[in-house]
Amino acid sequence: MSSLDTTAISRPRIPDPISGYRLENLVGMGGMGEVHKAVQLSLGRTVAVKLLNPELAKDAAFVARFEKEAAALAALSHPNVVAIVDKGKTDSTYYLVMEFIEGPSLREQVRSPLLTPKESLRMMMEICRGVEYAHNRGVIHRDLKPENILFDQQAGGLAKVTDFGLASFLDDANSRFNLTSTHVSMGTLSYMAPEQRVDAKNADKRADIFSLGVILYELLTGEVPLGTFDPPSKAKPGIDERLDNIVARCLKPDPEDRYATVAELMAELEPLAPVLTSQPPQPLTRVQRIKVGARQVVRVVTQAVLTVIVLAALGVLGVAWHRSGEKPAPMMPGAALTSELGADAVRTLPGRLAKGTERRLLEAGEGPDPLSFLIAGRPVNIEGKALVFPPMEIDGHRHVGRAVADVVEMEGDIALLKADVLADGPPPTPYTRLRTLLDGPLPDPQVAIMLVGSTGRYVALVQEGSGAPLRLEWALGERRGTMLGQDSPKGTVHLEMEVDAEGMLRTFIGTGKDRRVIGEPLVLGREWQKQFGEVPRAAVGCIEGTCRVEGLSYSVKQAPPSGTSSTVAELTPRPTPVAKPVAKPAPPAKKPPAKAPPPSKGGKKK
Ligand code: ADP
Ligand code: MG
Repeated sequence: MSSLDTTAISRPRIPDPISGYRLENLVGMGGMGEVHKAVQLSLGRTVAVKLLNPELAKDAAFVARFEKEAAALAALSHPNVVAIVDKGKTDSTYYLVMEFIEGPSLREQVRSPLLTPKESLRMMMEICRGVEYAHNRGVIHRDLKPENILFDQQAGGLAKVTDFGLASFLDDANSRFNLTSTHVSMGTLSYMAPEQRVDAKNADKRADIFSLGVILYELLTGEVPLGTFDPPSKAKPGIDERLDNIVARCLKPDPEDRYATVAELMAELEPLAPVLTSQPPQPLTRVQRIKVGARQVVRVVTQAVLTVIVLAALGVLGVAWHRSGEKPAPMMPGAALTSELGADAVRTLPGRLAKGTERRLLEAGEGPDPLSFLIAGRPVNIEGKALVFPPMEIDGHRHVGRAVADVVEMEGDIALLKADVLADGPPPTPYTRLRTLLDGPLPDPQVAIMLVGSTGRYVALVQEGSGAPLRLEWALGERRGTMLGQDSPKGTVHLEMEVDAEGMLRTFIGTGKDRRVIGEPLVLGREWQKQFGEVPRAAVGCIEGTCRVEGLSYSVKQAPPSGTSSTVAELTPRPTPVAKPVAKPAPPAKKPPAKAPPPSKGGKKK
């Protein structure tokens, strides 16, 4: 659509009123129409309304294309993809409503001299996550370019892929959105794969991988690769030479020679990318600083007064009241849970231990075997089959606690860790009331299932009591990162972390027909346990609030001698073997066979 003559359709006009929304101002104009900042009146929140140009709305093909954009967005729910809110029709045209992204587009970022290669890679990984997710849901974008990537400043610069106006569904053949080919050969040539230029209809996800290659090249060098071009490290000194091959492979003219999936591309980029968190928060403005300062003064005074009252009221000398000065710097939850938490205590609960030669299993709950857990940080209670981190006490100084299964012989290359977890806000106790008074609203609770190795090496799957996205966090030597999944449901949820014989780590939420994959797989590669330094152990952790972990089970198994890829599904039977929820062509065999292992995997060296 972007190749359409924009001027022909951009006459200023007053858009039709849209029931339920108040249009505020025009924020963008593209090939199909306008995007306005607007208020969704029912919820009083800011949204973006994309209006199809009324002239184009007379053309059934454009209406169908607009519908298709809405359908593509509706199929996607991912932190790195713009979210759709609504769609509808006015007297003269059609509209769709999206979350409003306040922040620059990648077009505005690309030539910023402030962008370091590391930042570029961080952005690139986020973009890749959004695209990989879309592919797994059967959606090909087909118009990836810097204009269509927005950065959500309020979310710390999180990249969001937008404009699915040219998207196609992998199973288009039977789609109700079939279009004539005249309307699909649009897009921006510089970013378009050669095969898409010739025959857009048959371009597959490797066309998106080509576009990702162009974006990566441009991010790194500030230039679009046209004709014969220098590899990035030549075009701009200081760029890691390993990126040359990665870019080159994305840009291969023959799609067969490119990465087959975005996951493969990410596996090669990841060791070169920095920790995948968002940008640091923006510095405060002067007014904000003054406000914060004033609040601090009030707080210190209130604190002093209250502390005196509390000490007097408690009548207990020596109550160790940890104050804000001792507050740990904010840490990623996985890092906090695996940090130094003081001496371990041992708690034992009943369970089952199976130490066969082929398969090893530990299962907390019922059974003849005593299972020992090393407890650090907060205390843990055993309640029936559950490990429970009770509400924090007034004299407890830790906000973080963990329990590590004290079983060391869990060696194997296929693994499955699972548990039912609950992270709950703390009940009102004198402690919580006081903390609320002094510190404001309490931080949200988090609970995690983890595999932990030698110091600082772990993979943690974190459920957020606040409902924030589920989070996979890992630190394996040089390899570190965070991946966000769908929102955490409230209440007790079943979490699973599974590693297959190829070393693909996948996470799941739910059971049976509600079992859903969380985010994208993490490619650890074969012999993945070695990256943990020592044979990883199953663990659970809790931050703030109260946490409950029931039915913890961890099983490992040796893969059958090379070749046939086996999954842990054989180890523990379960109703749905593969958990890609919707997308029909979800490719479970995403990793290439062992013949082409991703060459440079940071942690693997260890
Ligand atoms: P087109 O395909 O017609 O170019 P886009 O969806 O790319 O339409 O939107 C055009 C421009 O509008 C974008 O480049 C961006 O600047 C702005 N825009 C689009 N979606 C949003 C959004 N959700 N939030 C804020 N701005 C947006
Ligand atoms: Mg656009």
